[in-house]
Formats: sequence, structure tokens, C-alpha cells
Amino acid sequence: MKTQKSPQKSRVALVYPPINPENDSIRDLGTTPPLHLMALGAVLRDRDVRIFDGVHKNLGQITSELQDFSPDVVGMNVDLTNYDTAMKLADRVPGRVILGGNYAAFLAPQILANQPAVEAVCFNDGEMAIRGFVDGDMTAPNLIHRGGRNPVDLLDVAHLPTPAYDLVNMEDYFERQREVFGPDFKMMQFYGQKGCVNHPHCSFCGRYEDGMRLRDPEEYSAEVIKHVKEFGLTEVWDRSDSFLQNRNWFSIIHSRLRGLGPRFKTYARADQLDDEVVSMLGDMNFRSVYIGYEAGDDSLLREMNKNETTEQYLESSRKVLGAGIDVDGSFIIGLPGENKKTLENQVQFVNQLADLGLKKIKVNRVLVLPGTPLYRRVCDAYPAVRSKDSFGISDMQRKLYSTYDLSDFGGSVDNFVERINSTAEVMTQTILDRGGCAEGYGYEKKSISGGSEV
Ligand code: SF4
Repeated sequence: MKTQKSPQKSRVALVYPPINPENDSIRDLGTTPPLHLMALGAVLRDRDVRIFDGVHKNLGQITSELQDFSPDVVGMNVDLTNYDTAMKLADRVPGRVILGGNYAAFLAPQILANQPAVEAVCFNDGEMAIRGFVDGDMTAPNLIHRGGRNPVDLLDVAHLPTPAYDLVNMEDYFERQREVFGPDFKMMQFYGQKGCVNHPHCSFCGRYEDGMRLRDPEEYSAEVIKHVKEFGLTEVWDRSDSFLQNRNWFSIIHSRLRGLGPRFKTYARADQLDDEVVSMLGDMNFRSVYIGYEAGDDSLLREMNKNETTEQYLESSRKVLGAGIDVDGSFIIGLPGENKKTLENQVQFVNQLADLGLKKIKVNRVLVLPGTPLYRRVCDAYPAVRSKDSFGISDMQRKLYSTYDLSDFGGSVDNFVERINSTAEVMTQTILDRGGCAEGYGYEKKSISGGSEV
């Protein structure tokens, strides 16, 4: 354990570590700053707090920046893609190390057993946990440490402070946006809600928290308006899991932000996109809605607990596209239940969406995220995985596939992988052939009109 200094002089580094080199093909474009860290930064303003975004840096660069800052506390937001780099960083930098993010929350016992440089892990809301940790208060809620697991205390998110956008240099991000999306593009991300109403979560979904909490709609709207005016934004991207989960809340947002000027983009569940909502999205100048279809086959949707149907998907997509709003459609291929017939249905469904005018698609392979039913399925088949805190993405995929009924593929994981890859290519090509753009884990970014992130 590293030395603890006086809380009055605390220097706190909030870090998004660089991606593990082997995952470079799925590196984020990095056109926006890390929203989670800015939210934590907002509750640490009485400390010397800085944000270190490693998306465009390597381990050596970020190590040297952190050594220069010499933090008392290093809070790292880790995930499946950057965890190994984060652990190398934890060994090299000064300061007590605390981890946050869903990945760390689910794997806290394994991390604390395997990584001596990590002193604690946050779960659920990290705000109180990191404040307590910085002050040396190991009884703070939502903290897991070697002495135990502290009680849960969910934040009243209604009146959370505005994320600390001022702790990053927004101009650096705007410059990247101009390089990727063109000279007239200026976008910031916001979040109006926490959590998702779909219960239990989808089988692949690695969110730690359950249920949904709303920020005060007046405060949220004021925050968006302030930043649109201050920075001259052309685009507002709300990162809530589904912006439309509460109709009353959305109605207030609609009345406050309608006519503001910039275009909007958000995530939405298809079953929340009825005629009235789509018309309100049009009023608000929505450019695009991101829909996680995940599969174009109803048996797969049932098995993953999506609680939506392909019929609902087609209906809502017709409405949104018909209103002149783009749909950014996302699929996960290779989930449990995938077989020859479901793969054929996936292709057919993408053709139906293309007929409706879908122009943007991502076809991803499944990521086995800690805490999910998929992860537990792998652990049941491979008990040694249970004690691990670090995983190869492909290795976990193949372990998962090996638990499937692969009789349609000669019982071979290799054949299954080959078949899902070729099906994903066909799905992607269907959209590309109609002048759209596509990407996904395992692909080159083939055509990014409008940008893969936006
Ligand atoms: S709908 Fe989206 S956010 Fe909600 S549980 Fe499913 S994947 Fe997660």
C-alpha cells in the first residue's frame, strides 16, 4: 500500500488509462472527453484535481504526465479494453490507487486479491466513495477495500453538480472533431439519466446499477443551454442509456430545448419510440437516434432478455427514418442461441431495415463482460476464470462459444467463428452497398461519413 498524505494538500488524478495495445483495433476515436471522470471531478473541486485522458496516449506518455503531477490519489476508470494497461500504470505512478467503472465493481474481490497496487474499488455511484477515499475515510459508502465492502448509498442524481467540463481542454476535443467530422462540427456530451429500466438487464449488458434515476429536467436543460451558448455547439449528444425512458421528464426537456439550435443525438430503446415521441424528437432537431437492435431474430431477443421484438424494431425504425431522423443501428452477433437459422434471419432483418432507409450499422462480436450472465456461463464451464481479473477478449469469446450447441457448425468453435464473421460481413455490406456506412469490432472502419462515434 502506498503512503497516505494529508487530505488538505490532496492532488487527485482522475485517469482514463490507454487501451491495451492488443485491443487497438477497437480504440475509441477519442473526440469527446471522459464524462464519468468529469462527473467525479465536479465533487472534488476543493482538491487539486486533474483529468488525464489516455485515449490518444501510450503507457509511457501517461506515466510521465502522472509522475510530473505526483498525485496523492489516482482514480482510474477501467474496462475490459484498458485494464491491463491500467494495472501497469498502477505499479508505476505515485499515489494511492482506487478503481472505478463496472468492470472493477464486478471484479473487486479478484482485483484486490491479485493487484497489490490497488487499494480500493468503487461500486455503484463513485462520488461519495472517492471523496471518502481521498480523505482517508475507508468507511465511505460504495467502497470495496481489503477490510470489506461498505454499504451501498445511491445518490440523489436529481441535483448532482454539472460535470466538470472545465477540467479538460475542450478545444483539444473540438479540434479532433473537426479533423474527423469536418470543420463545422462542435459537439459535447451530457447525461440526463442514470441506469436502464430493462430488468433484469440484457444478458451481455455490463452495467452495475439497476433501475433508472433522472436528473432534474430544469437543471439538465439549463446545463445544456449554457454549454451550447458558451461553446457554440452544433451538436448535443446525451449519453443516457435511453433518453426516452420517462415521458414526463422527456416532455419537460422537449419544451425547454426545442428551438435551441444544435442537432441532437441519443440512445433509445425501440419500444419507447412511438408517434408522439418521434414527432417531439423532430421538433428538437434530432439528427440521429442510436438503437441497439442487437439481433434480428426473436428467439435471440428473448434469450438475451431484450424485452423487444423485431416487429417493434421495424415499426419504430419506420417512424424514425420516416421523420427524417437517422438511425444508428447496432447488432451483436454470436450471442447464445445463435444458429444457422438465426444467422439467416439477421441478414434478412438488415435487408428489411435497409429497405426502410437505414444507413448506418455496427455489427459487433459479443464481449464477455464481468457480472453478466454470459460471464457466469463461462465461469461455470471454466471455473479457473472465476479468480481472474484480466481477460483476453477473443479467448473469452471462444470459451463462451464452446458452451453453445454448435451442431449446425459441425460442433466446431472455429466453424462458428468463421460463420458469424461471414454473416457480419454480409450484414455490413448490405448497408455499404446502399451508400451507408458501417463498422464494428473486428472490422476496419470502412466508411465513416458522419463519423463512427456520432
Ligand atoms: S436495454 Fe441497453 S442499457 Fe438496458 S439492459 Fe439492455 S443493453 Fe443494457
